[in-house]
Amino acid sequence: MSDHQLRLYNSLGSRIEDFVPESNPSGMYSCGPTVYAFPHLGNMRPYVFADTVRRALRWKRINVHHVINITDVGHAVADTNTGEDKMEAAAARERRSVQDIAEFYTAAFFNDINALNILPADEYPRASAYVPEMIEFAAELQERGVTYQIPSGLYFDTAKDPNYGALAHMDTEGQLEAARVEQVAGRRHKTDFALWRAEEPGRRRVMRWDSPWGCGAPGWHLECSVMSIALLGRHFDIHTGGVDHRELHHVNEIAQSQAYLCDGLPWVRFWLHNEFLQLGAEKMAKSAGGAPRLADLVEAGYHPLAFRLFLLGAHYRSQLDFTTAAIDAAQATLRRLLARIQPLRPLPAADTLADARRLQTDPAAASALDQIDAAISADLNTPKILAVLQDALRDPAITPAGLRATVAAADALLGLSLATLDPDDLDKGRAKEDLPAEDRQAIERLVADRTQARNDKDWARADQLRTELDDRGVQITDTPQGPTWHLR
Ligand SMILES: [Zn+2]
Repeated sequence: MSDHQLRLYNSLGSRIEDFVPESNPSGMYSCGPTVYAFPHLGNMRPYVFADTVRRALRWKRINVHHVINITDVGHAVADTNTGEDKMEAAAARERRSVQDIAEFYTAAFFNDINALNILPADEYPRASAYVPEMIEFAAELQERGVTYQIPSGLYFDTAKDPNYGALAHMDTEGQLEAARVEQVAGRRHKTDFALWRAEEPGRRRVMRWDSPWGCGAPGWHLECSVMSIALLGRHFDIHTGGVDHRELHHVNEIAQSQAYLCDGLPWVRFWLHNEFLQLGAEKMAKSAGGAPRLADLVEAGYHPLAFRLFLLGAHYRSQLDFTTAAIDAAQATLRRLLARIQPLRPLPAADTLADARRLQTDPAAASALDQIDAAISADLNTPKILAVLQDALRDPAITPAGLRATVAAADALLGLSLATLDPDDLDKGRAKEDLPAEDRQAIERLVADRTQARNDKDWARADQLRTELDDRGVQITDTPQGPTWHLR
């Protein structure tokens, strides 16, 4: 059987296209987190998606150099232009330095990346380390006559770009209205965006750099253009992000980069975007009333890879609703997969189609591998790969060696740690009935106190009680009927 051609949905042009790399390694850039708060579950979907792209490229034996930026400066609260920086606002709120905030939330991001078994990027550049390059880039644009300066900073003149907004699927004006973009005195068009944000008179920024346009900080869009070109070259193959970026952030990245390069070529060939994860009205355990985080899921007794499986159970271009029923189902599916796969261990390594084919020993496995290759090649159809895996595990015609190759191949693309994850990690637990009565009563009291603290919105006290319960090996799950607990 022959290999299937990898085909990906390119937002630029809105069609599925053959993906053939133009360089070796192929360059790939993913817009990274602004490290001013804990990432919530929805924030993690773009990184699981980018990881799926990475695994698909590896499967096809395409070398890749992957860059994910860390935004530690320049992201304004109002999203595009002037006003307070998200980092500085967080520092003021938490009474910590901007550096502390950046380090703390960068570490939180890496924790989640690791827990979700996301392959590490080759580089994680920090925006704050590239400000001189950003100033040079903006100065070059000024030289080319596509900018103008007003008191609030240096702006990109979007009217100078006849193709401005080609990537966006929505009407840009409408998008701007929705994005609560503030009025800026002197700005010529609503779509014009800041390359450099000058300090407002009398308001000294914490993070500030000297520039030809006054002391201030770079605009948010600028960093991605500058760091990706610095690390991947003037043109590269793939740029990824969530659909929200497709409407404005990526539109602006393209406008300024193509004005800077000025060579008539598209800056990046493939623009790939994942749809939203809707967190909706679902009430998960929430540490401080915000959107649920991966840590909240874990606290409620779910494995991080159950969340990964939940995401991969839908196509990346489908909107997905996070519900308790859905994460329960994912955890149950993962448990069944591990129970079925554990007796097959050790599993071979089969990160590429070629490796998997070398291991395959029977027609049933050959057919399964071909279906897996067809599925990943057809714009990363992960739900189909899960279905092929489950069918193979039920197929009486497949040999043990063929099944091992099929499981290893599916997992190379899905990243669910099927070769190593211990099923007991999902259901750790001694029976609480085995506890001495007094220990059990003490735990019940702590659980009740924690519930009271949460009802009182005394989050510090609730967290402290959770730590105490944790020390006793107790795992709490908050349900609509109240908390339940079990022993790890
Ligand atoms: Zn970006």
